[in-house]
Amino acid sequence: MKTVIMGAGAMGSLFGGLLALSGEEAWLVDIREDHIQALVSTGLTLEEGGKKQMIPVHATKETASIGKADFILFFVKAYQTEKAVSDALVLQKEDTVFLTLQNGLGNEETICQQVDPRKVILGVTNHGATFLGPGRIRHAGSGKTYIGELDGKVTPRMTQIAQLFASAGIESEVSSNIQSLVWNKLFINVGINPVAALAGLKNGHLLDYPETLRLMEALVSEAVAVARKKGILIEGNPVEKVKAVAEATKENRCSMGQDFDNRRKTEIDAINGAVVREAERLGISVPYNQMITDLVKVIEKSF
Ligand code: NAD
Repeated sequence: MKTVIMGAGAMGSLFGGLLALSGEEAWLVDIREDHIQALVSTGLTLEEGGKKQMIPVHATKETASIGKADFILFFVKAYQTEKAVSDALVLQKEDTVFLTLQNGLGNEETICQQVDPRKVILGVTNHGATFLGPGRIRHAGSGKTYIGELDGKVTPRMTQIAQLFASAGIESEVSSNIQSLVWNKLFINVGINPVAALAGLKNGHLLDYPETLRLMEALVSEAVAVARKKGILIEGNPVEKVKAVAEATKENRCSMGQDFDNRRKTEIDAINGAVVREAERLGISVPYNQMITDLVKVIEKSF
């Protein structure tokens, strides 16, 4: 399968690099000139567990130079999706499959605004990666990747993509309820990201203070109430799960925290902001998510 990764930052380079390593034709597309130049001239340097390996990859800024793709994977930030989709349209043929593994809600809807929804599939990944500099990333953590059709059917193309990932060492599973998995991952980001960003804390320290614990519980409980009203299947106790993830990743500064540290725009609109939008549609009040979204957005304005 000819695969194109739209957004070759931390995660896009990880998936693209692993696919290339397994012998697949994978193209990395990014708008960063220095990164693309480094990828083309020296390849991708992938660091993991203190070891480094160099992976030759196809990389370009120009989607038009690639030809048609069988499979397009989006790994831009949520607020970059709309532009990335329009840049990817030239790659499209009749049976091209578009997959988002981005965090947050609404990325598949953004893709469907420009692409026939029958071509769009959705997923979540529990891998983690860090962008170290042009041509260099670190594989920060491994976990399962789930993919699914928007209507829940298990189709041959899903099995084919799961196999493609598996052959590249990306453990994958086809889900008949991908929306539930997306929401259950969303709870983690809803509870950890804005609180860690605003409080300037690593994930583990969120558990050290009654104030941060109270905030996390309130944010997650509101999101769970919205999900329940939407009929989303909830796994276990999301509040306890968020605490367990904060503990398991205690030394991590979450992505929104890193965005704050580097004075970059965050994905708040796709995370807590998305909870607020869904709650409005359903007539539910989510004051903690509304307030934290407003706070993050007003701070972002000074970046
Ligand atoms: P990143 O900022 O490292 O990478 C995004 C890349 O997209 C950047 O290099 C940027 O230049 C590029 N880009 C922007 N617009 C583009 C366009 N029009 N065409 C091509 N490239 C474009 O971000 P990331 O950490 O890799 O995260 C990507 C997504 O994956 C986010 O939604 C994030 O929440 C999610 N995610 C990240 C992790 C992680 O550990 N980093 C884990 C799971 C999910």
